[in-house]
Amino acid sequence: PDLFQPERPNSRGFDLHHRPTLDAVIKARDAFATHKWSATALVAGKAKANAAVRVDNPADPADSPGTVAPASAAEIETALSSAKPWDAAPTERARVLNKVADLYEKNFGEIFAILSREAGKSIPDAVAELREAVDFLRYYAANAPEAPAVGTFTCISPWNFPLAIFSGQIAAALATGNAVLSKPAEQTPIIAHLAISLMHKAGVPKTALQLLPGAGEVGAALTSDARVGGVAFTGSTGTAMKIRAAMAENLAPGAPLIAETGGLNAMIVDSTALPEQAVQAIVESAFQSAGQRCSALRCLYVQEDIAEDFIKMLKGAMDVLCVGTPWHISTDCGPVIDETARQGIADHIQKARAEGRLMHELMTPNAGTFIAPSLISVGGIEYLEREIFGPVLHLATFKAKHLDRVIDAINATGYGLTFGLMTRIDDRVQHVTERVHAGNIYVNRNQIGAIVGSQPFGGEGLSGTGPKAGGPHYLTRYTARPATPVDA
Ligand code: GLU
Repeated sequence: PDLFQPERPNSRGFDLHHRPTLDAVIKARDAFATHKWSATALVAGKAKANAAVRVDNPADPADSPGTVAPASAAEIETALSSAKPWDAAPTERARVLNKVADLYEKNFGEIFAILSREAGKSIPDAVAELREAVDFLRYYAANAPEAPAVGTFTCISPWNFPLAIFSGQIAAALATGNAVLSKPAEQTPIIAHLAISLMHKAGVPKTALQLLPGAGEVGAALTSDARVGGVAFTGSTGTAMKIRAAMAENLAPGAPLIAETGGLNAMIVDSTALPEQAVQAIVESAFQSAGQRCSALRCLYVQEDIAEDFIKMLKGAMDVLCVGTPWHISTDCGPVIDETARQGIADHIQKARAEGRLMHELMTPNAGTFIAPSLISVGGIEYLEREIFGPVLHLATFKAKHLDRVIDAINATGYGLTFGLMTRIDDRVQHVTERVHAGNIYVNRNQIGAIVGSQPFGGEGLSGTGPKAGGPHYLTRYTARPATPVDA
């Protein structure tokens, strides 16, 4: 398929700089300011359900968006035994998926309210997330190959893009005619329940799409049953390895695993970079979505010659970040997802503080699971033993003559998701981008927010299996077509 598809424009989203649009967004969202949702499993048959438990609002311990009844063993069994591939014609499946996209767009107010109250998303982040979800639906609808489905796909999605990645995996599996068993992240069942309800409303059959909310045990049951034909997973590298092991034991030998996992993403800023542009890109890459993107910048390398002034500018840009409730339009950096996440990140910052490495830190609200955007000085990326999934940026300096050592250190992490380069020297762009192993390389811009259809997203090594989401090869992994050279 052609990457450039003028007949399938991406969603325009909402221009929040346009006052009437902003007012309309806020009004529609505010209608759901105190609404309580009840998320449940959605399975094709009768089964005894579990009791409902509270869902938290990470920004506000006093608020709860509602409850979830995690999938019971009986519901999981009902889903596994009733799942049936979607045998409608590909054009009909595409029509229904486009209708899902329309329904998402129509329900933006409710979606933005849930994304804020359940996932802590700022309004700009929620707008971007809805756009991406809609783009995945329309892009996969437009590109489904005529090939037999695998059968039943288990789709396990993360809380950091609880609508976009969730919908992307499902849309890919459905566009190719598979049955889907969907296990959303434990923290974000409500947005998942709304999304699946809208998919059913649009016409996806209930046997082709079932929802099983819950914790890790639900995912484990859905990845170790021989009735499952393949798995799509986005989450940590460690969980992906466990899933692969469970699949190897229980599923057919050729069952596909499509995994998008973690990253230890770096950016290099050399002395020719435009400092204003670089600082802006760094702040976005490290702190937007409170750093909770697998694409986010974790380790910044600044050329020694410019470091002193550059760090001053960076601290200044951090100081004007607005940290607080995502419900406010002015918020740049909302909470992290839950107390477990907060504690893990806080421990990392505390260790850095004890080592005398904490260069800069902002204030945080005192209720809710907030982490102050922080800057930590390190010798190099080796300091990071694991992915710190929050608004924490590590900074190292390098001498121009040691550029290749920096590249080697970045590659030695074994991850390879995103990478950023800020330079005005063309030869350097070529030199560095040819050597760094990363799925998505960005030059002279931020390194987050890949756009469906034009910037396929995914990594290599510890960062994932490929093929990249939102790209021309992704759907082939959801089909049983024997591997053939890709479209001449
Ligand atoms: N696709 C997202 C981006 O480009 C990141 C996805 C993720 O965090 O899992 O920023």
